[in-house]
Amino acid sequence: MVNPCERTSEGVIIAELCQVTKSFGGGLPCLHGVSLQLRRGEFCFLTGASGSGKSTLLKLLWGQFRPDGGTVHLFGEEVNLHQDRQMARLRRRMGMIFQDFKLLGDRSVAENVAFALLVRGLPKAEIQQRVRTALKLVGLSHKADANPQALSGGEQQRVSIARAIVGGPELLLADEPTGNLDPQTSQQILALLHRLHQQGLTVLFATHDLALTRLVSHRILHLHHGKLKSLSHP
Ligand code: ADP
Ligand code: MG
Repeated sequence: MVNPCERTSEGVIIAELCQVTKSFGGGLPCLHGVSLQLRRGEFCFLTGASGSGKSTLLKLLWGQFRPDGGTVHLFGEEVNLHQDRQMARLRRRMGMIFQDFKLLGDRSVAENVAFALLVRGLPKAEIQQRVRTALKLVGLSHKADANPQALSGGEQQRVSIARAIVGGPELLLADEPTGNLDPQTSQQILALLHRLHQQGLTVLFATHDLALTRLVSHRILHLHHGKLKSLSHP
């Protein structure tokens, strides 16, 4: 039998699901025999209706969920049985952004971006330098001292992107990052992620908004009834 996850020579695979199944509460599997290979430097859309399992798939890659069957590999390591500490080590190589931004309302923009680096115990001067660079990349240097609640939705999402990239991740998982934004702001966020991708970041962008996927030419994967299908490959 052909192994569906056989390595190919098309590039380094940095994240991989192989025949992954995931159920909740004994019902029908949310994901059923899902296989996916993400290559370094790729930008890939993950589409599907609400409830189709996009967030579940991303959380499997983030290590928040474990599969019921099949295997998950990150950066060449099988992570199915990884302990929290081993997963935390791999998460340093990833960033995650969410539909609802998940910013801390009692901290400034810069403090929100710095938070994950403080936990890592990096020197203060290095943290400040990295935060400045990340805020510059997302065009928010002038808002470093603002409270996130005083910012627009698009600006808040840019802060959360800065927070996700400040540690220099190789893989960015974006879970409906434009779900709470108007169409024009959504396009700006897509353009920002596209630019980061052009600078070398690997991006998996989950969205139910097919209109967004037509704006840039990237691979599109589609979840439907627990199965993953490839809609296009540029
Ligand atoms: P999407 O992100 O595409 O909207 P989700 O991955 O959030 O889909 O959800 C897929 C299915 O899995 C839904 O039926 C949802 O109710 C279920 N589900 C997701 N997370 C949980 C959870 N933590 N506990 C129970 N059911 C869940
Ligand atoms: Mg979701």
